[in-house]
Amino acid sequence: MSDTTTMVETDWRNLAIKAIQGEVLSREEALSVLRADDEELLAIMDAAYRVRRHFFGNKVKLNLIINAKSGYCPEDCGYCSQSRVSDAPIEKYTMLEKDVLVDGAKKAMAMQAGTYCIVASGRGPTPRELDQVVAAVEEIKSTLPMKICACLGILSQEQANRLKQAGVDRYNHNLNTSKDHYSHITSTHTYTDRIHTVETAKHAGMSPCSGVIMGMGETDDQLVDVAFSLRELDADSIPINFLNPIPGTPLAHLNDLDPRRCLKAIAMFRFVCPSKEIRASGGREVNLGMLQPLALYAANSVFVGDYLTTEGQEATADHKMIEDLGFEIEQCAL
Ligand code: SF4
Repeated sequence: MSDTTTMVETDWRNLAIKAIQGEVLSREEALSVLRADDEELLAIMDAAYRVRRHFFGNKVKLNLIINAKSGYCPEDCGYCSQSRVSDAPIEKYTMLEKDVLVDGAKKAMAMQAGTYCIVASGRGPTPRELDQVVAAVEEIKSTLPMKICACLGILSQEQANRLKQAGVDRYNHNLNTSKDHYSHITSTHTYTDRIHTVETAKHAGMSPCSGVIMGMGETDDQLVDVAFSLRELDADSIPINFLNPIPGTPLAHLNDLDPRRCLKAIAMFRFVCPSKEIRASGGREVNLGMLQPLALYAANSVFVGDYLTTEGQEATADHKMIEDLGFEIEQCAL
């Protein structure tokens, strides 16, 4: 090993020590992770693993998504196949009936997913949609030992309070990208609207889940900005999605990501938000490819099963990956 390599490894380990000791990384340090040479990737992942292991051991949290309402969205998020500006040939349907939502929770249990994520397209829930979700959540919480995350768009405080009362543990509303890149992705709502919904969910007593979609033309600085914004927002759970450019969506032409950049980004989020649940999320299979297992040295959470309108790998493949790494699926503790 050369002197240079030894020096570099020591630097990454210093970042790990800083993160474990509760010191906030500087912007320059966060940027240096994203901009590091590919040769340093394993040293970076080793340092990120030290932080992950300190806070989460070798546990991996599994989450299952159900697309509770698909398509028909009046918003124009450029990455999304369900938006009004997308021509992607997706299945479209209104809010699923309560029994179907409850069955999904049983499927999540069978896949060892401790958290069931009820996700619906749209700007925000209608009164009828909220009633259906509330009824399903009440039944699931009275019969199954699992956590529920809802992701229904923009919420009023009253709606958030109702979800909390029904038993929703966590509310997801992603920042998606940095404040100054936001208008390039969506024009029908603002970054401030997003922050406001996360705060509303927190105020209702739900655990805030908010993350990003990388690969939407953002710069390194913008990716670092959103990492620090999520730290400031105190998001408990941070899904890192990797753009899967779906034909028919406005961002279909973007293809900026490679697996090494995705891994460096996950590590950067681990250093900036060391004690938070970092989830390797949508687009994981497509963008990380054969390097998927390495993500779990920094991330401590993944989705199993399919995403909203795209397929994930089989849950058995995820279980095997976790077993092969010597890691352990986290059992739901309520
Ligand atoms: S991300 Fe949500 S709000 Fe945006 S277009 Fe898709 S379904 Fe609508």
